Amino acid sequence: MKKPKDETITNIIEYKMPEWLEKDFILPFKSGMAHFFIFHGDTDGLVLNPKCESEPDTAYIPFREFLRQVFDTRSIVIFYDVASGMRFLTSAMEKEFKRLAGIETDTTASADPVAAAKADLAAKRGLPQDPNSCLPLIEKVMYKSENMAVVIKSAHFIAPNPGANAMLPANERVTIQTLRNWSQSERLRSKNNLIILLTDDIAKVSSELRNNGSAANQVFIPKPDKDERVDFISNSTYKSRRKRVLEVEIDKLDKQMKKSSSGVDKKIVAETEEKRVEVESLGPVITLPSDFEISVFAHAAQGMSFRQISEIFLQALKTGQTLDLNFVKDRKRNILNSEYGELMEVVEAQRGFEDIGGLIYIKKYLKTVLDAIKSGEHRLVPMGIYFMGPPGTGKTALVEALAKEAAFNFIKTKNIRSMWVGESEARMQKFIYALRSLAPVVVMNDEADLADAQRDAPKGDSGVAERLMKMWMEFLSDPRIRGKVVVISCTNRPDRIDPALKRSGRGDQRILIPMPSMDELPDIFKVMFRRYEIATDIKNFTPFAKKTDGLSGADVEAIILTAFRFASGKVVDEMALNRAIEDFIPSASQASIDFMTMVGLLECSSRLLLPPNVDQIVQGITERNLIENLDSYLVQIRARKIVSI
Ligand code: ADP
Repeated sequence: MKKPKDETITNIIEYKMPEWLEKDFILPFKSGMAHFFIFHGDTDGLVLNPKCESEPDTAYIPFREFLRQVFDTRSIVIFYDVASGMRFLTSAMEKEFKRLAGIETDTTASADPVAAAKADLAAKRGLPQDPNSCLPLIEKVMYKSENMAVVIKSAHFIAPNPGANAMLPANERVTIQTLRNWSQSERLRSKNNLIILLTDDIAKVSSELRNNGSAANQVFIPKPDKDERVDFISNSTYKSRRKRVLEVEIDKLDKQMKKSSSGVDKKIVAETEEKRVEVESLGPVITLPSDFEISVFAHAAQGMSFRQISEIFLQALKTGQTLDLNFVKDRKRNILNSEYGELMEVVEAQRGFEDIGGLIYIKKYLKTVLDAIKSGEHRLVPMGIYFMGPPGTGKTALVEALAKEAAFNFIKTKNIRSMWVGESEARMQKFIYALRSLAPVVVMNDEADLADAQRDAPKGDSGVAERLMKMWMEFLSDPRIRGKVVVISCTNRPDRIDPALKRSGRGDQRILIPMPSMDELPDIFKVMFRRYEIATDIKNFTPFAKKTDGLSGADVEAIILTAFRFASGKVVDEMALNRAIEDFIPSASQASIDFMTMVGLLECSSRLLLPPNVDQIVQGITERNLIENLDSYLVQIRARKIVSI
């Protein structure tokens, strides 16, 4: 990684072509492999100006401006969208286009007054706007000319994807067919004509165009990576840093003046004045605290586009608030939640491993995952992890801790159900792109929802589920993603998860998080007192572990909060804690806890990660004998040597 530009006070950035631009667009086009592209993702965003080194004040330009720049050597450049029709890069290009399209003739050259009048009228009438008139004109010109560039903005409006069963009107079908023909046309390619469709959401573009049969190349414009964000923040905060340097220098000069015994030193006065003028010329600047390093800012802004980071600057400027780490984190959560709100919730991971009592063997395992992430050995990072077991045992807490310790973004999925019904593929795609932008990210899936969704999925269309799964697996096995997206699903009914889901996750690790053992409970008590900063004079929690045997971490949490209430907010003593334990009514029945534990055990994928007291757990379940078909479960876990009893 490049050195953050904290120390150097400059706004000059070295130009480096973004990887996606080079790999997915420039190379395929230059090599003659492709001439039809669909750009999607952050198409309204800012990109690094290729001339950023000589124009540091406009080092970032809108993507469309960027296209204008890179196309200025092309013969004719057309920008088209339904709302404003065709626009040309230069008026000469417009003229040439009209000539080739046959809609403007040279009026002065024609001797025939009727022809001249007709041509004049056509010129005045100008160019059509609707796609069914524009595309044939563009096509006509493309077949006559070479080295053209055609950019179609908001492509989803002219070539939309109809919902599941809807029919498109005939004119839209024609447009889609025209575009498909362009994508497949050898003639257009050999003439070096380039066609680019822009859309913020690829799922909204006709699937006919996206499918394999069409030769459209999809180019995803991702959000900037960390190095790119460092450059952007460095360039944007240049004034703030420059101002700080100037102020320090002015201060020094002032002190020098005061100390000087030989009266007013003209040189110092002039120098001070010069610096003051420069400070003035900087105008209002964002105040970035001096201890807020750019690399720390850039890390916190992970998942944000340049425009979204600019939004943070503007908000700080407008409200006069200090632009510190908390401000960035807070704004980021807001901005990203409004962007992805329907799909996921962006959460700040606050609690780490030290906040989890017991589960030492699980924490140890997760630390090996962390080490693999940190060392970049991505093959050792599982693609997915399942935490199974009864509610309240700390599954969610473990996911949060992993996100925090890895310093990854942390998101919780929402409405997973709608991914499997309705506009499933479009949503899945959107979800995947969101994760790409947010990576590195820990994703928490609450699969209670997913199991239900599977049941609700439309019958007779098993193909949808298969396709979704394929998209999902392709995403997870993408080398650019591997090790940067860790998906953890939490469920207390692993028996309900669709077998296809389980089968698909070849790299999945399935782990039971059982109710805490008697050995673990004292530790959970201690963690809870510490977490809530509740004072207690109890030193030994073992007797209380005995009294709370069979309860979950969440239950212990509730008990301690009650004890605190019983102690009137003062020091919790043995009496208060005993009263709270007696008062407590568990929410889950023992039968359902036993059942969830048993089905969880049956799904475990690693012997090393079985609870150390697994034999005892099974013995307890056997003695209580509360679940149906207990014998058949016992036969299965014995046959698979999950227990030794
Ligand atoms: P789950 O996801 O297993 O249903 P959560 O992780 O949401 O459970 O836990 C519910 C509450 O109980 C949280 O406040 C969590 O911090 C607490 N909790 C559960 N188990 C533990 C534990 N072993 N150590 C610390 N806190 C725990």
